[in-house]
Amino acid sequence: MHETKCDVLIVGAGPAGCSAAFFSKLLDKNNSHEIILLERLDNDHYDRYHTMCGEGVSGELFQDIAPIKPSCIIEKIDKIREYWPEKVELEMTMNGYIIDRPTFLNGIIDRFVRLGGKFIQEPLQDFIQRDDEIKVKMTTGESITTRYLIAADGPNSFIRKKLGIAGRVKTLVQYVVEKEPEHNTLIFEYDECWDGDYKWIFPHGATTKVGFPFRTHRVREPFEGTILTKQARKVAFGGLQNTVNGNILLVGDAACQSNPLTKGGIRPGMVAGRMAAEALLTDNPRAYAERWKRSVFASPLFLHAFDRLKGMNNKELARHMAPFRKGVNAFSNIKAILLYPEYFNLYKAYELSNKVGW
Ligand SMILES: Cc1cc2nc3c(=O)[nH]c(=O)nc-3n(C[C@H](O)[C@H](O)[C@H](O)COP(=O)(O)OP(=O)(O)OC[C@H]3O[C@@H](n4cnc5c(N)ncnc54)[C@H](O)[C@@H]3O)c2cc1C
Repeated sequence: MHETKCDVLIVGAGPAGCSAAFFSKLLDKNNSHEIILLERLDNDHYDRYHTMCGEGVSGELFQDIAPIKPSCIIEKIDKIREYWPEKVELEMTMNGYIIDRPTFLNGIIDRFVRLGGKFIQEPLQDFIQRDDEIKVKMTTGESITTRYLIAADGPNSFIRKKLGIAGRVKTLVQYVVEKEPEHNTLIFEYDECWDGDYKWIFPHGATTKVGFPFRTHRVREPFEGTILTKQARKVAFGGLQNTVNGNILLVGDAACQSNPLTKGGIRPGMVAGRMAAEALLTDNPRAYAERWKRSVFASPLFLHAFDRLKGMNNKELARHMAPFRKGVNAFSNIKAILLYPEYFNLYKAYELSNKVGW
């Protein structure tokens, strides 16, 4: 049986793991650390898994992950439109993109390898944490011994579960529909039937992506156009009490870091991946946990807002958005707070999610 040793092992090459791997190597100026990125899926399955996404990101993501620049752009996004019950309609500007996510992530993996990192496509099967090292077993029977483990293995994280940490996970369903989309626009439809979430309609080249939370009872096909593909995948949100356990650092959906309100998880995952890499540069995993907890991405306002929305019926959904009927601006914000002080924390969460929700 072959045994490999490394300084940092990153498990999972999604947005969070790719970011952690790339920054671990970028910051390793003398190329003196052995960094391995492990991914369970082969190329075809990897691409399929990572297209199960709206693939929407904000321009601000690229400030957080510089020097990674916007690339693999399918469409530029310049506005968001929201439909609330009782014909309340809102439109806001957005500086964002729809990206070809698998190609974008593959590009980061290539850069990681060119910087001296090692990419292995095999599944982690098990691990044991003892003293100052972690021994990881792969399904091939081979093993890797590492000083630090970054768990970026997604919403169903085996590593999180084995550590006995519970997380909030939800299944989202998405249809790729043969229908010319409304270009440059992200559309959200709110209704009590989505239990605090929403239905989204995102442009994707000549096709439209329509998604919503999975429901146990059948939902009437909520769109026009021929269905090309039906997809379902989980998202993990709501955060963890602790994102570090010994020398194991959890990032992205493994740490339930998707935004509870928007369910956007690419940006928080990539920011967390970078933070984890920076903390390990100074041999201080706890610095990552502290920094994440203090960051705006982990604000408790988001989960509070989601839980509040979950309890609202259509009448209340429409009522609390009524002050914004004529547009979202400083005047409507003040009007909302004065008319409906009971929703103050919700309005604060909306304001914050406009800045860091995607
Ligand atoms: C339908 C849908 C639409 C979405 N749309 C958007 C959107 O438009 N914008 C946005 O910002 N967010 C969106 N999200 C959320 C976003 O996709 C996730 O938050 C994000 O993918 C989390 O990234 P991650 O790297 O933490 O995990 P993942 O992307 O899940 O990646 C985890 C990786 O780990 C690998 N892995 C798992 N187990 C092992 C193992 N044992 N060994 C080795 N490798 C392993 C997996 O194969 C995978 O490649 C959407 C989610 C869903 C479900």
